[in-house]
Amino acid sequence: MTSSTTPVTTTSAALFDRARAVTPGGVNSPVRAFNAVGGTPRFIRSAKGAWLTDVDGNEYVDLICSWGPMLVGHAHPEVQAAVAAAVARGTSYGTPTEPEVELAEELVRRTSVEKVRFVSSGTEATMSAIRLARGFTGREIVVKFAGCYHGHVDALLASAGSGLATLAVPGTPGVPASSAGLTIVLPYNDKVAVTAAFAEYGDRIACLITEAAPGNMGVVPPAPGFNAFLAQICRENGALFISDEVMTGFRASKQGQWGLDGAVEGWVPDLTTFGKVMGGGFPAAAFGGRADVMGHLSPEGPVYQAGTLSGNPVATTAGLATLRLATDEVYAHISAAGETIKAAVAAELTRAGVSHTIQATGTMFSVFFNDGSPVTNFPEANAQDLPAYTAFFHAMLDRGVYLPPSAYEAWFLSSAHDDAAIQHVLDALPAAADAAAA
Ligand code: PLP
Repeated sequence: MTSSTTPVTTTSAALFDRARAVTPGGVNSPVRAFNAVGGTPRFIRSAKGAWLTDVDGNEYVDLICSWGPMLVGHAHPEVQAAVAAAVARGTSYGTPTEPEVELAEELVRRTSVEKVRFVSSGTEATMSAIRLARGFTGREIVVKFAGCYHGHVDALLASAGSGLATLAVPGTPGVPASSAGLTIVLPYNDKVAVTAAFAEYGDRIACLITEAAPGNMGVVPPAPGFNAFLAQICRENGALFISDEVMTGFRASKQGQWGLDGAVEGWVPDLTTFGKVMGGGFPAAAFGGRADVMGHLSPEGPVYQAGTLSGNPVATTAGLATLRLATDEVYAHISAAGETIKAAVAAELTRAGVSHTIQATGTMFSVFFNDGSPVTNFPEANAQDLPAYTAFFHAMLDRGVYLPPSAYEAWFLSSAHDDAAIQHVLDALPAAADAAAA
């Protein structure tokens, strides 16, 4: 399908009207609303493999994959069977269950963590990891990087203050200055800034949290050795190094971003947060790490943390079924599919005269509609031609390819993106590149 068919979207539009009457902005998470690109979000009725079907019957190749989780594609028969069996046994008991133990063992096997605690969202994971770090160290300051997103945790919705290595200000109304004021926001990939912050506040810093490889300002890989440097400066200063692998975990590689750097270079984070893929499309997330640090969590230790649906048996069953399917072959397939799509995007944008930069870490990649320069931090990520992306996005959508409705997001693939789905994406690219050039 190379020509635009301008799909009929009247049912989506009607639902969006109804949704806006009862839900702020009509959505339950802001980026879904299409505010950055305009137009009406498509209400999805069903999904199978690499494809989404909306309520008007339009089909799309899905390059969002639920913002990362659907590593093995939608409605995978083995995940569905495991989930159906779990549901048939009952959906929540408020007691320990076997799937929790099995999923925890799988996480420990694959990653650097020695012990793990389940929660229901990535936000809860980072929030709890920070509380644990503060409880463990007896310190209060948190260091983060501009452009790294860790969920909607007060302390992490902070913007840089007026100078380098100063305490931050709230990033949104509703975050108390007292909370943001215990956060330092630094430029990503900047060792000098990190060194300066630790020189000034080292004995007050509880933890440094970073996306293991940022994917929330587009994909901005850590400079070689940057994560190792962070781990070391934290250790030297008695602070904990928290690696946020909610997005990269079991996605960038079988062992997440840590499999691409820490496992190779021989260092481990003190704590790691997980989410997305490990929930198999259900609300499951986790934080874990050093056994001595995790031992400070209640009921073993004094740092309180809990959840009614934490370790839910259906969610952990879905996550376990997904991770068991996530073999080397799955990552090889996603990697090859990504190479094909990246090469075609680069070729078509270049042919159309649209400058851009494509960046990746492992199997995760994104396209910056910029002047062709490498992107190493948030200000550079912000220097994009947003109208060009908007035109590209809508041209792809009209041709049945659902890209993230924001220029700052990674494009996600799954093992279900077969030759037919990839060809569908390739067929849509020439017209979209022309639209971006116009
Ligand atoms: N950390 C990272 C790196 C994320 O990408 C996200 C969500 O996109 C979160 C944390 C928050 O996860 P959740 O949306 O499940 O609360």
